[in-house]
Amino acid sequence: MPFDRQLQQVVAESIRELERDGFARHGSFMRDLLAIAGSHRSVGNLLDALEADRDVDAARVAVADALDGGTTGSIPAIEPLLRDRVADAKWLPPAVQIDLSLVVDRAIRTPWRNAHGDLMRLVFGDQLSGTVAATKMMPRVQSSPDPPARLSRRDFEGVVQREIAALRESWSVLPEFAVSTDDAPDGFGEYWPTELSADATDRLVMHYNPDSARADTLRATLAHEVAGHAAFYTAVRNLGAPWFDHGAFALVEGWATWAEWHLAPIAAPGPETFGLIGLLDAECDEVSRRVPQLARARGYSDRAALYSLMLFSEHPGLQLSYVLGGLWLTRELGAPKAESLEFLRGRPLGDFVFSM
Ligand SMILES: [Zn+2]
Repeated sequence: MPFDRQLQQVVAESIRELERDGFARHGSFMRDLLAIAGSHRSVGNLLDALEADRDVDAARVAVADALDGGTTGSIPAIEPLLRDRVADAKWLPPAVQIDLSLVVDRAIRTPWRNAHGDLMRLVFGDQLSGTVAATKMMPRVQSSPDPPARLSRRDFEGVVQREIAALRESWSVLPEFAVSTDDAPDGFGEYWPTELSADATDRLVMHYNPDSARADTLRATLAHEVAGHAAFYTAVRNLGAPWFDHGAFALVEGWATWAEWHLAPIAAPGPETFGLIGLLDAECDEVSRRVPQLARARGYSDRAALYSLMLFSEHPGLQLSYVLGGLWLTRELGAPKAESLEFLRGRPLGDFVFSM
């Protein structure tokens, strides 16, 4: 979004249409959100946008634009990860790859600014402090110091099948979806509803890597992807919303995180999760130190810890949307049930539901 001016214009025009259709307050929220998100020109956002499209001509324009207009600063500790990602983008013409390296050089030398506070104060409004305070309502689970053994790929796929069958028994509203496993080195799983893909059915992709292949993590991932995302999209299809901002991160990921916490007890948030909330307005040094520390405390590898720092610093609001969305829903609705989303019936759907 920050590197695609055309897309920003399309979104701005959609917002004007909403306002003309009588959604003035929602429109004003969306306008503020666009101003913050659209101006966050981080290298991480640029790399994600390039990877999503893999369009050489569009990449040339976006990278030149980033070289010209600059980017927001990046935390120096994540430099190796950014360099790896540039080196991995072998589909780019060499000249564009070199320019991209220059963009990274400059971002690392530019001071990083924490934008989480701006975003989360917009999304949660005067509910922010109450939402943060809801951490007291959560049971505290201390993660075990010894990470469980890694599942073989065959066992991993077996658990996936069995857990999905069990979730189908206890969770009445689940759509049919295709399931596959890949070897993506980072991340846990992805749920693609047909609304966000060109596929005929919803699709669940599970990532098999050292961090995702632990039995406890795998169960939490499945609760998140299936009871979280699959059930959410099924419910939303029946809620009669006049419109839905599919980029509503705190709503979509908050719901999935809430499902994960309550359905996979091992995933219930511990001090590590809540540690992130304490970084809402933290400076670069504290964030560089604390985010990897919190990830390692959950038993993740050094690579996953660095990846976590990249997510936190390059994509403001992303991880905190999961946690704060989950907390807000816990405080408002208790434990998730199939009918929990009824409170949204007939309403437009977006991250404004938390504050409006
Ligand atoms: Zn998710």
